Amino acid sequence: MTTPVYLDYAATTPVDPRVAELMARHLTLDGIFANPASRSHMLGWQAEQAVENARRQVADLIAADPREIVWTSGATEADNLALTGFLRANRHRGRHLITSVVEHKAVVDTARALEDEGFKVTWLTPAGDGRISPAQLREALREDTVLVSLMAVNNELGVIHDLAALAEVAHAGGAAFHVDAAQAVGRIDLDVNQLGIDLMSLSGHKAYGPKGVGALYVRRHPDIRVEALIHGGGHERGMRSGTLPTHQIVGMGEAFAIAAAEGEADQARITSLRDRLLEGLADLDGIHRNTALEAAVPNILNLAFAGVEGESLLMALRDIALSTGSACNSASVEPSYVLKSIGLPRALALASLRFSFGRFTTEADIDRAVDALRHALSGLRRQAQ
Ligand SMILES: *Cc1c(COP(=O)(O)O)cnc(C)c1O
Repeated sequence: MTTPVYLDYAATTPVDPRVAELMARHLTLDGIFANPASRSHMLGWQAEQAVENARRQVADLIAADPREIVWTSGATEADNLALTGFLRANRHRGRHLITSVVEHKAVVDTARALEDEGFKVTWLTPAGDGRISPAQLREALREDTVLVSLMAVNNELGVIHDLAALAEVAHAGGAAFHVDAAQAVGRIDLDVNQLGIDLMSLSGHKAYGPKGVGALYVRRHPDIRVEALIHGGGHERGMRSGTLPTHQIVGMGEAFAIAAAEGEADQARITSLRDRLLEGLADLDGIHRNTALEAAVPNILNLAFAGVEGESLLMALRDIALSTGSACNSASVEPSYVLKSIGLPRALALASLRFSFGRFTTEADIDRAVDALRHALSGLRRQAQ
């Protein structure tokens, strides 16, 4: 059996070997393993220093102050803390949240839970390319709107929101602006000051760091307040308690430092890999591009294959690891809610595949994927006749 070609980087990335090596040095007795909150011995201080170094690496990537970074268990927790923590802390000012139907489940389900708690939510529906326009946002703002939450890069389509323009509209309406940037690290510029972002969710494992660690950026000027969701010791300036996982944190820090240094070069190489895939399929009929290339990161490409079933296609492509829609809903056969929301007919949504590429994807990987796809499509289409 050959190893499958991995084209599912949007679901998770492998840990960069440089990151893994550093993490391994923060686990065992001969390494930096102590509790970073231990103030009574040098080993604790060393661990604290490692954590603070990583905090600076993450802050540097987004041009923030390290004191604005709150460690979490991932972007899911960061989204929960941003939405629930902010709305609860600001309920005296208003109870209205604006978000969109194409957000990750970490935002969608949190917003639903907030509706159950009595907060009001406006759900924006995107245009055909999957993006929310500043004009749409302006229409939705109300007197009592306190928060707008929109993602930087859509995990299924790869399209990029115009964050600066959206932030400006949110602020003009008196609302704070939260961005889920899990898919954006190393892919687009994330300077929180230039973009006007108040809260930003980050994840380690979408950017060649480990799973199980993330961060929430919380702006200090003007002072953005979030109420803690996890209590127990007052770590992270009271916003998120719990012993800090030093090895995870140094891994995320190193991954973000590498993203800052190499992200642009990675993306340039990945653009040519994506184009190679598109060229390899260019002469085939019935391929519908769900990703608006001119508005998207090059590492995510969503395509629909008319006349075949997505599940059969996936079965025929056993040697290629990829997702239909997004990994989170590939267990059920319901079409992806993101693809439905851009108006894709049900049959095409069900026959869509997300190709996502990364730092370790090679031209040979792309060629294997093209061959496998051409073979699978001709087989399935012949059967269907
Ligand atoms: C992966 C992802 C998340 C969840 O991140 P975790 O670190 O796995 O919790 C949230 N939002 C988006 C857009 C993602 O792609």
